[in-house]
Amino acid sequence: MTLKQKVAVVTGSTSGIGLGIARALAGAGADVVLNGFGDAGAIEELRAGLAKDFGVRVGFHNADMSKPAEIADLIGYATREFGSVDVLVNNAGIQHVAPVEEFAPERWDAVIAINLSAVFHGIHHALAGMKQKGWGRIINIASVHGQVASVNKVAYVAAKHGVVGITKTVALETAGTGVTCNAICPGWVLTPLVQKQIDALAASKGLPEVQAKAELLGAKQPSGEFVTPDQLGQLAVFLCSDAAAQMTGANLTMDGGWTAQ
Ligand code: NAD
Repeated sequence: MTLKQKVAVVTGSTSGIGLGIARALAGAGADVVLNGFGDAGAIEELRAGLAKDFGVRVGFHNADMSKPAEIADLIGYATREFGSVDVLVNNAGIQHVAPVEEFAPERWDAVIAINLSAVFHGIHHALAGMKQKGWGRIINIASVHGQVASVNKVAYVAAKHGVVGITKTVALETAGTGVTCNAICPGWVLTPLVQKQIDALAASKGLPEVQAKAELLGAKQPSGEFVTPDQLGQLAVFLCSDAAAQMTGANLTMDGGWTAQ
């Protein structure tokens, strides 16, 4: 299977799951546009490394996904510089953990903007080009929290349930056009976003890191192991394949059994 001649935009791909997906898509031959925050030198190293490892074109755009005008610029940059946006992976996301009555309204606004509204804005700008070509793949990185809730994550759970709703709606609106829209719902993946929660657990209970990790997994993820960015990347590659042409509107869990309970 090859994604040669296809252009993939992966939001939030300077780290974690987004980077794993960008690597997997580049490995399948796609040209890739990276996006996200971080040290400019480190990002340039990532960009050049991906291009060299896989012999594909790799660009970077620093759109802040909480800002609709910058999302429009990101899609415009990819279309102008790379020719099209064939695969859009809406992955950028943040977390904030607090009980609802203590949840700062600014944190609510930020989580909703980046984890939910950015998904709408990205699709809004990219879809016309996909429809015109009669081929497109939209992959939204939701979460197990798009299907079930956990305490102290009100904005994240609301946003991810919203992402599942966007996914189903866009799947219906694009059915029969050659464009598919699916959501991937990961359980725990060991990324900087989760490391912060492990550090907080270790600090609050006075646990060594290894025990905090085991406790975090034990509470929710029956496999007792983290999902990896590479495994999620391979699922994204599958969703881009011809075999997945009739998969649309799906919410695909990769969660070590979390939501089977
Ligand atoms: P991460 O913190 O490693 O990566 C987040 C990426 O998003 C980074 O590249 C960061 O620079 C970028 N980003 C953050 N705010 C941004 C903004 N305003 N504009 C542009 N880029 C921004 O986190 P991750 O764990 O890889 O999370 C990626 C996605 O996967 C998120 O949507 C998250 O909700 C989801 N997810 C993560 C897990 C997990 O266990 N790690 C589980 C389920 C779902």
